[in-house]
Amino acid sequence: MENLVLEESQSAALDHALSARATVIAGAAGTGKTTVLLEAASRIADAGQSAVILAAGRRAADDLRVRLTAQLGQLPQGLAVRTAQAWAFTILQQYAADRERQTPELITGPSQDAIIGELLVELGGAIPWPAEITPDIMALPGFRAELRDLLTRAAELGMAGADLVGLGREHGDGMWTAAGELLGHYESALALEDATATGGADRFDHARLVHQAARLLSAPEAWTDGSIPRWDWILIDDYQNATLATASLLSAARREGARLILAADPDTAVEGFRGGIAHLPGLARGEREGLGFGGEIKTLRTRHRAGGNLARLQDALCSRIGVAGISSHRNPQPAGVADSVEITTFPSGDQQYSGIARIIRHSHVRGGLSYDDVAVITRARSAHTELERVLTDAGVTVRPAAREQPLRFIPVIRALMDIIREANGDELDDATLLDVLASPLVGIDPQELRSLRRRLSMWAAEQGTDRPVRALLENAPEDGWAEPIRRLAAILAAARSAVLEGGNAESVLWAAWDAAGRAEEWRVLALSGGVRGRAANAMLDTVMTMFRTAQRMVDRDGRASSIELVEDLQAQEFAEDSIARTGRENGVHLLTPAMATGLEFELVVVADLNDGVWPNLRARDGLFGAGRLAELHLDRLTGGASGIRSILDDELRMLAASAGRAKRALVLTAVDSEETSRSRFIDLIADENVIEQVEASELSMSIPGVVGRLRSVLSDPQLGVSEEDQEAAAAILASLPHWTDDTIAGVDPQTWVPILEPSTDAKWGSEMWLSPSVVESVAACPLRWFLTSRGFSDTDDRRRLDIGILIHDLAERFPNGGRAELLEAFEEGWKDIAATMEDGLEKDSEYAAARSKVENLSVYLATSPPADVEQAIRVDTDSFTVSGRIDRIEHSDDGPVIVDFKTGNRVPSEAEAEDNPQLKVYQWAFEKAIGTPSAGARLVFPVETYRNGSPKTRSQKPLSDEDRQAVDDLLTGVKEDLSGSGLPVRVNEWCGFCTVKTICPLYDEGALFS
Ligand code: SF4
Repeated sequence: MENLVLEESQSAALDHALSARATVIAGAAGTGKTTVLLEAASRIADAGQSAVILAAGRRAADDLRVRLTAQLGQLPQGLAVRTAQAWAFTILQQYAADRERQTPELITGPSQDAIIGELLVELGGAIPWPAEITPDIMALPGFRAELRDLLTRAAELGMAGADLVGLGREHGDGMWTAAGELLGHYESALALEDATATGGADRFDHARLVHQAARLLSAPEAWTDGSIPRWDWILIDDYQNATLATASLLSAARREGARLILAADPDTAVEGFRGGIAHLPGLARGEREGLGFGGEIKTLRTRHRAGGNLARLQDALCSRIGVAGISSHRNPQPAGVADSVEITTFPSGDQQYSGIARIIRHSHVRGGLSYDDVAVITRARSAHTELERVLTDAGVTVRPAAREQPLRFIPVIRALMDIIREANGDELDDATLLDVLASPLVGIDPQELRSLRRRLSMWAAEQGTDRPVRALLENAPEDGWAEPIRRLAAILAAARSAVLEGGNAESVLWAAWDAAGRAEEWRVLALSGGVRGRAANAMLDTVMTMFRTAQRMVDRDGRASSIELVEDLQAQEFAEDSIARTGRENGVHLLTPAMATGLEFELVVVADLNDGVWPNLRARDGLFGAGRLAELHLDRLTGGASGIRSILDDELRMLAASAGRAKRALVLTAVDSEETSRSRFIDLIADENVIEQVEASELSMSIPGVVGRLRSVLSDPQLGVSEEDQEAAAAILASLPHWTDDTIAGVDPQTWVPILEPSTDAKWGSEMWLSPSVVESVAACPLRWFLTSRGFSDTDDRRRLDIGILIHDLAERFPNGGRAELLEAFEEGWKDIAATMEDGLEKDSEYAAARSKVENLSVYLATSPPADVEQAIRVDTDSFTVSGRIDRIEHSDDGPVIVDFKTGNRVPSEAEAEDNPQLKVYQWAFEKAIGTPSAGARLVFPVETYRNGSPKTRSQKPLSDEDRQAVDDLLTGVKEDLSGSGLPVRVNEWCGFCTVKTICPLYDEGALFS
């Protein structure tokens, strides 16, 4: 193996490091610190010595392993590349083997959170929380998150519960005292579980892992003679991100003879939030117990990554950061390579992300840059879901973003949990069974669900049952419409028999999953890529994570039951890391500054550089003072002013670290509008004249946009495009599939609607059943009716639909009102709707709006005349059948009044209601079906009220002869619309709200598709 050619400062640093007991190699981003470490590793291997090389994260460790293997041909036995936690776990495993104990086990974040949640409830008033911490506050997820943060910091510092209680008393901090008591109970709970678990394995959470390993390495007497693990060398990259626990582990290894090489750049520390301490490399020079190793600092002076532009930006950023012990590494020589820095602001967040998509596609299409060589870095991970959506829609391949929700909120997992509950004897109600039917596990689409709901309500009326799904599960007919129910029954039966056979969590879950039969279908979809492939991949991933949870429980206790699995998942309040992804992983990397540590990319886009977002100056310590705890431990307790200063330094370090990941090109983007200001950091590093301000969205480089334009050129004769230009467009279109691995929709002329031959010229059937609302809908625009009735919609109105169904259901069940009963039934029904929503403002306001409608409805029902509800009507015409159910027929002194509840938010004018075609058709059908004219009709809008709290209503007079003629004409028009084999499209007053406008041939929005 040949040694790398190092420049002067690198060689000097390497030579010193290989001859000293401890060395700190300080260098700015791109100066080759990692290269020196790898070279040191290879020389150590050549000398037959052992070393552990520690990286800041899993991705960085993988990267180091690959580079070292490439450098050495193979990874020698004495060399190991690990994260600090993985290394600590190895030490714990070795100790367990030495003591002949079971392999230790890691507690996942969600499980730890669940244990803490249970303790908070169980201990209640037994913990001396300050008076302002009420049970309501303790129940907040944010409270638990901050508490977890404090306990993690305490664990990393090696503090037990009693230590934290003592510190709280010493500093008069009641939160620390209370949290310390809870920590004591947490430790006892773990100890008790360890003692009672059948496997007998010790359990550690991530925070305790490294400290525990350090404790064991510091106690040779705890090991059998000569068995304590020893390494000749410990090499650590990005030491500025290490925690105090890692420093203690290094210290312990050093006492056992290890020599240390620590590579660091304190200006790019990004783990301040998670206990990382930027000052550690500086402290490594001294001899302070657990922190100092007497290491000399060797500085790297030349950048090897990035040229003058990137170097200038880095230097400008770093010069603003307070010095964390070392500054000799600042302002190194730039590398002589071409590079670029662009700073662009956009008028809105949407346009910013679309602009990023355009930049990336441009680099990919025009510059030939692989998507794998591109990263988009944001300050917070929460931005990644939206970024992934926008980039994917624009045809950019993206590595899947990590899940943020706990498993139980994912529909497929929720369905499996419900099935397991039922299998264990907890009988599901019809609403939950319908949710399971609509989940991806059974997989009926919204259109099928609507039609199923209709069939169920008819079947329920015929059979006189109010629980049709439950009744059908026992004995579903062989008809096609009942097929999903038969499928659900089979899944439930499989899970139930697994429970009856005494199956544990894993085997019952497997029985349900296997009976659902989705695995192969999703696997094939996942491998095919594209949007649907990514969705299938994500679903498989969540199911695998559920299996992993079950497996862990069973590993710990072979008898762990399926219902315990459900309870465990139910208690989880945040997402568990995924390790079970399948399918392709190539694509643009969406990262946070911490996730980007140790990686490098040709093009880096740093996005969302807005004030309030980056820098985010919210106090880090919040309620529990977790950051102050670490600083206190370092005798660096800061007051208010230095607190803000240290937050700003942290934010600048994260930006410097992100910018430092770019090898050739860096783009910084922000929103600059009246409501949102660009980050003050942009003004720190750039003059106004180098900031590009995008004023409006420009030509889209998205694949659908390009395909649509080329198709119009080729297929729209009205554009009058020359033959030559058409040929050029055809050639570009034919070359598009080579741009990406994903399937591009719409390239094949066989799929172009304007030049496609119809697949059939059959006429509409004569046995059509149309409700009055469908009659109105067809009359307004037949195309829109057809598409929306087939589930074709570009908006997700499922929730509105569910709220509407719930309100109609309540009006039917409580025809005479009764506020308390209505509200109680509403709260019950709301649970299912709420389960599909994330906690937050939107959910709260949806709930408040729906509840207010129910309150208003109760006033109407209590003050209205007696009524029949949900009465079916049917009138056969010569071309179709008009049928439907009337919400309510009120028996007024003047005769029957037809009442229709409208749960939307728009109340029409009196004149509009008087003319309302749907109501007229109801009156007409009632008269034809019953033989008596109605005494008028009424629309009721629970969304708005009169002063007395009763909902607004709009009335329609009884039908006149003229109205009857108008209905006849309307029905004749509908008959004509449905008489051919095609469908007319008709501009009408609702076009502005049309959900299928994006494929309407009469509007520009649809021009790309039709
Ligand atoms: S936009 Fe108007 S014309 Fe086009 S489909 Fe919708 S309702 Fe019909």
